[in-house]
This record gives sequence, C-alpha cells and structure tokens, in this order.
Amino acid sequence: MNSLNAFASDKLAELDAAHLRRTLVSSERADGLHVIRAGRRLLSFSCNDYLNLTHHPAVKAAAIAALDRYGAGGGASRLVTGDHPLLAELEARLARIKGTEAACVFGSGYLANLGIVPALMGPKDLILIDALAHACLFAGTQLSPAKTISFPHNNVSYARELLANHRGRYARALLVTDGVFSMDGDRAPLRELAALCADYDVWLMSDDAHGLGVIGAGRGAVADAGDPAVPLQMGTLSKAIGGYGGYLCASKPVIDLIKTRARTLIYSTALPPAMAGAAIAALDIIESEPDLVATPLARARAFAAALGLPEAQSAIVPVVIGAPEAALEASRKLADEGFLVIAIRPPTVPPGSARLRFAFTALHSEAAVARAAEAMRAIMKA
Ligand SMILES: *Cc1c(COP(=O)(O)O)cnc(C)c1O
Repeated sequence: MNSLNAFASDKLAELDAAHLRRTLVSSERADGLHVIRAGRRLLSFSCNDYLNLTHHPAVKAAAIAALDRYGAGGGASRLVTGDHPLLAELEARLARIKGTEAACVFGSGYLANLGIVPALMGPKDLILIDALAHACLFAGTQLSPAKTISFPHNNVSYARELLANHRGRYARALLVTDGVFSMDGDRAPLRELAALCADYDVWLMSDDAHGLGVIGAGRGAVADAGDPAVPLQMGTLSKAIGGYGGYLCASKPVIDLIKTRARTLIYSTALPPAMAGAAIAALDIIESEPDLVATPLARARAFAAALGLPEAQSAIVPVVIGAPEAALEASRKLADEGFLVIAIRPPTVPPGSARLRFAFTALHSEAAVARAAEAMRAIMKA
C-alpha cells in the first residue's frame, strides 16, 4: 500500500475504534419534516429547517422564478459580474430585520465567518471567543494573525478578567460568540457581553445561525435580548430561512470595508440569484407569520418539560448521553421508532458529552413531540 492510502486507512481504523468515524448517509428530504434513509421514512428532529421553509410553496416558487430568469449559477465573484440585483434586495431586507444600516451576503455562513474575522483583525489585535462557539468562528480566528483566547462557555466574568489583564497590550479587540449555541441550544448573555465590550472598547460579533426566524419574534437573538449593541451580526440563510448562503449585518462603513476586504467574498463565486430570491420569500413569511415563527420554540419547550430538562431557550434541545457508542445506540433505537435524531459526537461537542440533538420545527405536531419524548424517556430508563 502506498503511504497516502496507508495514512488514510490507519486514520479510519483509529476513528472506528473510538466510535468517532463519520460516514455520509444518503438522505432524501421528502418534505420539510420527513427524511427517507435506507428505505425508511423517518420523522426528522435533525434538520435545521425550523420553519420548514425549504419546501414552502412560496419559497420554492421564488427560487424557480429567479432560476428561470437569471440562470443556475452566480457566474463570477460579486466584485466581478456576480453582484445580481437580488443580492442587494436581500441585503436591504436582512438589514431591515436586524435593524442595521447595511448587510453583506456571502456564499454560506461558514464562508462569512472565514471572511469577516480576518478582514477585521490583524497581528496587533486580540480576539476572545466562547469555548462552545461554532467551528467556523474558530476557523475564522485561525485565519487571522490576531492573538486568540477562548473563554469558558458564557462566562462573562472570566472574559472580563481576560480583558482586564490583556486588553491594554492590543490595538483592537473582538469578542465572538454564537447567539444561540448550535449543539446546546442555550443563548449567549448578549446584554452582559455588550456591556463588557463597551467597557473595554471591544467589538462584539454574534453568530445568529439558530436565532433568526425562531426567537425575538423572528429577528433573532440580539432582538430577543432587547437589542443590545452588537455591531457585527452574522448569520446564515441555510437554517430557518430554508435555503443557502450567509450574511453579515452591520453599519455601512463596516459593510463597505467587508465588501472590499473579505477574501471569501472576493475570491469565491456569488450566491446564485435563485437562493437570494428564496431567502427574500422566506423573510416575507417570517415577517408576516408570527404564529409560525413562535411554534418551534413552543415545541422545544414542551419536549424539554416532558423529559424534565431545563427550559428550552431555542428550537434546539440536547439530550446528553456521554459515550459516543451509547449516543449512536440511542439514535438507532429512536430510528426503530420512526424518529430521526442524529447522534452528535466529539469533536463537534466536548469529549464525554456525546448527545442526541433534537431540533424542533413549526410542522412538528404536539402529538409527535409527545411521542418522541416518550420514546426518549424509555431509552434513557433502559
Ligand atoms: C450552521 C452554522 C454555521 C454555518 O452556516 P452555513 O450557512 O451552513 O455554512 C455557522 N454558525 C453556526 C452557529 C451554525 O450553526
């Protein structure tokens, strides 16, 4: 065997032994709610399609209309010929719902974070990041030469101490956090963080991937916290919005700087117009259907209450199992009951905290949520 294949095979064997190998499973999403895997039709609690907008007739129609008129792809980077007028329209809509002056759309949320952080933070600067922030926020910090320090999850007093000790030695400082944490479903203390950042002249950046469309009457985690000063509000179009793409909402000068400096905007092809059209239609729905928007959180709360878990703060409810093989086994048992709940294992979550991550959507019925809670309770007892 050549050294490359030997390397890959050894790595795979290591991962298999630790129950940490991941494999792709062909999955067809039949509607906004069910997934067909290996011939089985399962009720999904693992899609981030919180409002089931991926399959909403108005969202699909908007995508189809834009695709028909403008073609399948973006054609080039936005700074070349890819800056389709629908992107400007979408940016105006995102700025409006977030209450900022301006917005910038990226190819994905991951690309947004990879582009934003290094565009702002240089070698003389300091970045603080919550230890449980999303992997792509960490990846963004790794692309910046700034000194990066992570602080324990949601620990504002620890972050304050770090700033008291270190802030003076750096030119600019940035604090980055998820607004809603993707694997825990809890929220960042954005008001306290905004106050801390004001005290130390730190720029606060929140990732609202799981907030937009779900909390704060659909406006997301910053709105839900009472609109504290969060000058950099990043998010994705791929979760409650039901499509694909990422964004940053901020002031006009910041957005203008990002548009000339963020490498993932400059050197990557524009988001296709169909995705912009779909996102605009999704925002129309989010802004006009408060009952729909309120449902995922209500379902998450009912599920958490049925299992005696802490009150859900978002549409995400983790049931922490511990060992990866036990989490996989629990996931298999739920599939046998007709529920798709993917086991989340390290390194996505800290070692020893493998879990089932339940994500609730507007189309989950109260009865289905109760059945899923019952199935989960039986597995936990066994
Ligand atoms: C999903 C996610 C992203 C990445 O967004 P994509 O558009 O899927 O690339 C970023 N941050 C958080 C917190 C996420 O959950």
